[in-house]
Amino acid sequence: MEKNTLYKNIALKKYNSWKVGGTAEKLYICADKELLSEGINHKRITPPFTFIGLGSNLLIRDGGVKGTVIIMHGGLSKINLEKDIFYAEAGVSCSKLSKFIARNSFIHSAFLAGIPGTIGGALAMNAGCYGSETWDFVENVLVINDKGEQFKRTKNEYITQYRKVINKKKLDEYFLATWMKFPKGIKEDAEKDIKLLLKERKEAQPLNWPTAGSTFRNPPNHFAAKLIEECGLKGFTIGGAQISNKHANFIINLGDASASDIEKLIDYTIKKVLEITNICLETEIKIIGEY
Ligand SMILES: Cc1cc2nc3c(=O)[nH]c(=O)nc-3n(C[C@H](O)[C@H](O)[C@H](O)COP(=O)(O)OP(=O)(O)OC[C@H]3O[C@@H](n4cnc5c(N)ncnc54)[C@H](O)[C@@H]3O)c2cc1C
Repeated sequence: MEKNTLYKNIALKKYNSWKVGGTAEKLYICADKELLSEGINHKRITPPFTFIGLGSNLLIRDGGVKGTVIIMHGGLSKINLEKDIFYAEAGVSCSKLSKFIARNSFIHSAFLAGIPGTIGGALAMNAGCYGSETWDFVENVLVINDKGEQFKRTKNEYITQYRKVINKKKLDEYFLATWMKFPKGIKEDAEKDIKLLLKERKEAQPLNWPTAGSTFRNPPNHFAAKLIEECGLKGFTIGGAQISNKHANFIINLGDASASDIEKLIDYTIKKVLEITNICLETEIKIIGEY
């Protein structure tokens, strides 16, 4: 598909890691920030907007998404290092940025290597693991609003929490790029950290199945995976959706799952865990679209 072009009625299955969901009423692959601004400004690209990175934290319902879906991965892909500050556009994959940082002899980027999303998605989710989160390293971000206006914002314009990012003024904006700072270190150490983290994740997670990673947030003082496992739900299946036998917080698509199978399994898990433990799980994944 051509970049910077608006399409109608495009299937979204290939734009999310669960490989489910309906169609986008309109879809635009963004490869140029200025063209995106211009398109929105001239009302060629119209709201409501849904920005998607690699769709690795998304459940797109079978009824599809109204409005314009804006795809960032494969489009906005600039990355560079200038005066110890890393600049990455929102469509750059976390793994690519992590390796770029290590190759330039900066450390602490390993956590990004195992996150199969884009930097835009990581900014929106404050993605993290192994004790580090995306916003720990953010200096500034470039955002765009529904009118196509772009602004450079500082980190202190946001409240950042566990998998949650809130603009203090509650502005509806989307991430186009970021400037990040990492500590200087030894290249070989940084690259070794990445290899080790990827090995650990391969052992612990069902990475050979379509999944969206952790389905539920960890409740305070608990681990969602442990609660689900203790409720005997490992391997529980609805339609083509199954609670992974390898990691109970992962729901896998066995091949022919619909978004509705996955959502039913999510609802069932919440109900069962609440009944048995009195703890109400909340989803970490974002659910979008029409039934
Ligand atoms: C195997 C596996 C392992 C995972 N491990 C981890 C982990 O360790 N830690 C972790 O935090 N997550 C993990 N995840 C979840 C996921 O990879 C992260 O949340 C990631 O940051 C999502 O990025 P994405 O580009 O795929 O975002 P998407 O799934 O495309 O979108 C996620 C949300 O962000 C919004 N969004 C996306 N791009 C933008 C943008 N440019 N501007 C504004 N909003 C935007 C979307 O609208 C949506 O609400 C894992 C997922 C998988 C499949």
